[in-house]
Amino acid sequence: MKVPYISLGLQHAPIKAEILKRIEKLFDTGQFILGEEVQTFEKRFAKLSQTKYALGVANGTDALFLSMLALGIGKGDEVITAPNSYLASASSIALIGATPVFADIRDDFNLDPAKVEKAITSKTKAIIAVHLTGRPAPMDELLQMAKKYNLHIIEDAAQAVGAEYKNKPVGGFGITGCFSLHPLKNLSAAGDGGMITTNDDKVYQYLVKARNHGLKSRDECELWSYNSRLDNLQAAILNVKLNELDKWTLRRREIASVYQQKLKGLDMVVPLDKSYEKAVYHTFIIQTPYRNELQKFLLENEIETKVHYPIPIYLQEAAKSLGYKKGDFPVTDRQVETILSLPVFAELTNQQANYVCDKIIEFYTSKKSGTKTNLSAAGK
Ligand SMILES: *Cc1c(COP(=O)(O)O)cnc(C)c1O
Repeated sequence: MKVPYISLGLQHAPIKAEILKRIEKLFDTGQFILGEEVQTFEKRFAKLSQTKYALGVANGTDALFLSMLALGIGKGDEVITAPNSYLASASSIALIGATPVFADIRDDFNLDPAKVEKAITSKTKAIIAVHLTGRPAPMDELLQMAKKYNLHIIEDAAQAVGAEYKNKPVGGFGITGCFSLHPLKNLSAAGDGGMITTNDDKVYQYLVKARNHGLKSRDECELWSYNSRLDNLQAAILNVKLNELDKWTLRRREIASVYQQKLKGLDMVVPLDKSYEKAVYHTFIIQTPYRNELQKFLLENEIETKVHYPIPIYLQEAAKSLGYKKGDFPVTDRQVETILSLPVFAELTNQQANYVCDKIIEFYTSKKSGTKTNLSAAGK
């Protein structure tokens, strides 16, 4: 049985006709930039996020960058984020002119509030709280800390559309929520796209201009700014896909639950939901001491897996000038060696998910004479 890591073709098959019809209309009107489809999508996205506003931008990285621009963050400032995230959580900080500062994570791949507190200095202006893998970051602790030290929280919700923390959707906890609509994210355009959510009138008014050349009307420019708009064409596609999102999320969670039940008891850490979390499983990442061997075995059995991410941001060449060295973030370092992302997407069948588990169990059974590691204990 073949199990691909993801299949966008399968996702698009049942909705392609509707998408093409919607796009055809745009070719008749020629309304390609910031048109009605964008406005509709923004309204619907704000509703989904339970925020006052949602604003379409060109991609998730711009969502982060523009959020910091709106807050006046720049040279001399520090912003704390997670070293195991996708690199854009940090590159956006560097690009705004500030210094990315990393704090280690917990076993659920999200920031450890105690480590964040240690990383705060007089220069710290904000924390980018990443909801990595589609699991909400510990928002209560981070928001408390932000209040105590007078910092902003920016949510990097690029992987977490539809996720909830204590029954409230992500994107409404921080001053802004930043989403990516990249083709591989849970809700995706046919190309790049991003969203910023906020409840703050001032930030919203600023961002409306900042994403569009600093224009306050068609002909009046209030400030020099960027061109970071969401295409109407992409919004048309997203409006069709948004109808499916709840169903897709439910399905991702069902697959996660198959993995959680069947992989229980093996010498590995399996991601689990806390009672107050609704994770959307952008990725389902296990931690196993046999990562490379297992990945190879699964591939031999036509099961495709990935590693998110094999090089932590702080060890990237681009991060050299920040002065970090291997060993600075022990939890991140341990995970880099052990993480393996199993296939999880709405069109994956239970049969396929069960097959993945069966093969993993088979691999572990063949290992039974090997020495036990203490990884599962470390993961508690
Ligand atoms: C994908 C991603 C981004 C960047 O989004 P783009 O749309 O690719 O610019 C930022 N942060 C995280 C955690 C991501 O997964």
